[in-house]
Amino acid sequence: MIPRVPQNKRLLVGVATAVTFILLYLISAQSGSPKVVYVDKATGTVVSDFKEALVGGSTLVGAPSAPASQPQPPHDEPPIKDSSQEENAALQQIGAKEEVGKQPGDCLIPGERVKATFVSLARNEELYELIKAIRNVEDRFNRKFRYDWVFLNDKPFTQEFKDLTSAIVSGKAMYGEIPKEHWSYPDWIDKDKAAKSRADMKAAGIIYGDSESYRHMCRFESGFFWRHPLLDEYDWYWRVEPGIQVHCDLNYDLFKYMEDNDKVYGFTISIYEFDKTIPTLWKHTKDFIKLHPEYLAKDNFMGFISNDKGETYNLCHFWSNFEVASLKFWRSQAYRDYFEYLDQTGGFFYERWGDAPVHSIAAALFLPKDKIHYFHDVGYNHGVYTQCPLNAEFRYEHRCDCNPNSDFTFRGYSCGKKYYEAMNLEKPKEWVDYQ
Ligand code: GDP
Ligand code: MN
Repeated sequence: MIPRVPQNKRLLVGVATAVTFILLYLISAQSGSPKVVYVDKATGTVVSDFKEALVGGSTLVGAPSAPASQPQPPHDEPPIKDSSQEENAALQQIGAKEEVGKQPGDCLIPGERVKATFVSLARNEELYELIKAIRNVEDRFNRKFRYDWVFLNDKPFTQEFKDLTSAIVSGKAMYGEIPKEHWSYPDWIDKDKAAKSRADMKAAGIIYGDSESYRHMCRFESGFFWRHPLLDEYDWYWRVEPGIQVHCDLNYDLFKYMEDNDKVYGFTISIYEFDKTIPTLWKHTKDFIKLHPEYLAKDNFMGFISNDKGETYNLCHFWSNFEVASLKFWRSQAYRDYFEYLDQTGGFFYERWGDAPVHSIAAALFLPKDKIHYFHDVGYNHGVYTQCPLNAEFRYEHRCDCNPNSDFTFRGYSCGKKYYEAMNLEKPKEWVDYQ
């Protein structure tokens, strides 16, 4: 709104301005200097330097303009430069292929992309929890990189699911149905034995103890998601589950970080497994290693998963609802053989083996430990557990929205301390205040 100025004051200022003009005209005529002079339109004072006058937004005397006493709101002035055009031109110069701004406010970080995709296994009923998670990952990371997103389901996705998710994903969104063979009982499973085990586990109060679908899900995430044809064209994936949150800005390409630094498996939270879900997993793992000692990596991460050099499993594992990892690792002969060996024992159905301990044990044994990367900078939440960076400056710079008191890394059932010890790393200095 233009400020209102009282009538008599306007008259006074008008007269003052006219007098100034007449004086200026007389002075310039006398001295022989150019007849064009500049006056600051807001204050009515003479501007001696033409260039400065331009930058300062002063107007040429005589040009149509508002009275000096009525400053205009800034949006009435022509823009000095169009910065959106400049940003586009700059990005083209440094080789960014796409145009800036698919959505208002989006800002592409230029640079090479690696062959990577997000992957979400989900049910149609989880749509609204999932799109919250996707929106969050897009805001914190992917709107700047635009990686693709693969959605997998044991049932056909609804149109609503496809419409809403593809509207939010900034890269390509793809939808795959899981082949029956990857989500059903293999022929060597005794279904009665499996049903009895589910009943027993339910009676024992074990979480998901009586769930058949949970077992198919864990077996699928262990042995099959990476075989889905939609993932064939990729080397890397980032697993995202419904309802998860990313708490801090991620301003670099996590996939490219993995590739450039020769990493294979990246995690955020680590935790102890419920031993009742995996009574024989370690025994079978040891048998497998006896059969295939060649798969055990030199400098492996046994120190993280065992406190007695491999005699027993200490239950530590990477929480697999977040993974940024190499698909090539799961496609390797070592992992294929390990999964097949485990699958033949029937433990996914007679017990309730999770994909998290299976992935973690494989990564810890078949990889040199320096191929495992801890994303301590990824603020993350799934269910009751949170990772929140402890350094206050970091949280400020990355606009984190988590409370450091909720950080799980050095508390209770977390394997965070074990990780730092086994990796021979110094814990962050703040850890003592958050245990
Ligand atoms: P939790 O994290 O161990 O409690 O297990 P979740 O219930 O979160 O399941 C893990 C992942 O598998 C999530 O991405 C789920 O959306 C997905 N999931 C679990 N069960 C099913 C299922 O029966 N069908 C499909 N399509 N996805 C499932
Ligand atoms: Mn989950």
